Amino acid sequence: MSVFSHLEFDNHQQVVFISDEAVGLKAIIAVHNTNLGPSLGGCRMWPYASDSDAIADVLRLSKGMTYKSAIAGLPLGGGKCVIIGDHRRQKTPQLLRALGQQIENLSGSYITAEDSGTCVADMQIISQTTQYVSGVQENTLHKGDPSPSTALGVFVGIKAAIHYQLNTLDLSGLTIAVQGIGNVGFHLCQYLKAAGANLIVADIFADNVNRAVSQLGAKAVPSNEIYSVDADVFAPCAMGGSLNIESLSKMRATVIAGAANNQLARPEVAKLLQQKGILYAPDYVINAGGILDIAYQRSGASLAALNTHIERIGDTLTEIFVRAEQSNTSTDLVANQLAEEIFQRPDLQTTNSTNNITINL
Ligand code: NAD
Repeated sequence: MSVFSHLEFDNHQQVVFISDEAVGLKAIIAVHNTNLGPSLGGCRMWPYASDSDAIADVLRLSKGMTYKSAIAGLPLGGGKCVIIGDHRRQKTPQLLRALGQQIENLSGSYITAEDSGTCVADMQIISQTTQYVSGVQENTLHKGDPSPSTALGVFVGIKAAIHYQLNTLDLSGLTIAVQGIGNVGFHLCQYLKAAGANLIVADIFADNVNRAVSQLGAKAVPSNEIYSVDADVFAPCAMGGSLNIESLSKMRATVIAGAANNQLARPEVAKLLQQKGILYAPDYVINAGGILDIAYQRSGASLAALNTHIERIGDTLTEIFVRAEQSNTSTDLVANQLAEEIFQRPDLQTTNSTNNITINL
């Protein structure tokens, strides 16, 4: 299996394969770029169909983190960890401690945190064997969990997107289709419900769907029908790759704005979105609330400062929407250019960055 010639390989600085048979651990850590600082990114646990799928995911996700931190104005690089396995059945304290030891061995080039399939309790176990872990600070508002901040950022981003596309700031009466009602998706639904939006939801786990239906009055549809529902906004909050030729052929929403990482199945999909007149909020821009939360947990800055920073996601998106329209290009391309201007020229950071956040590493 190739790494250096892999389609998703983008001069990643480090790719570490971890195997510990005694505890059932198979994981990959990828560090994409550390120009702006040490790499920080979540640890995902997922039952990948193949090792190749896991490699593709970690390469894409770690690169996405470089872009995300750069555009969010954080002094951090991009990295990610994937554990190959079913988090509902195979996650054990022994496995997590063994992973922590491996992260410790990297001496701080990669700092881990929560992602899909891992939670605050897991990070606390990992912290028993490594200092390079965030999302464990229980004295913060959400007790270390970045998901509510991610959801807040997505909510802010949806408001910016509907303002730009639909010329309204009022969500009441609008219908939002949310794909994936997990940690982020459920918190997002709470914000949307409070703002008066109608919710249509789908998830592969019935208990997650039932919670949204019973607690928030959401309408549930089968997973394969969520793309074609009559909605103003489609919010992908499940796994990556959900935006492709097939899903877009069914899409009725004219705004796509959600939390999932790597929403575009292929980069070319960005152009297709533009051609269809669908306003796409680039995933790593709109979902930066989580990395901001994680970074602020290590900074000692106030919650008010964090929330102010998250609110700026809306301004960043609006700037991207405007630039994309003016240059007749895709929002994804504009976001990439903005991020690259920042992390490929760290010497310009003092002028590019408006943040004074200091992260204790
Ligand atoms: P999660 O695992 O808690 O939730 C994901 C949900 O999607 C689960 O309930 C799962 O059952 C569901 N799902 C999976 N495949 C599906 C499908 N085909 N159709 C419908 N539902 C499906 O994860 P999360 O922490 O809520 O993260 C959601 C997404 O947002 C992920 O892509 C993650 O990488 C991204 N993200 C999360 C954070 C964070 O703070 N947690 C931050 C940035 C980005």
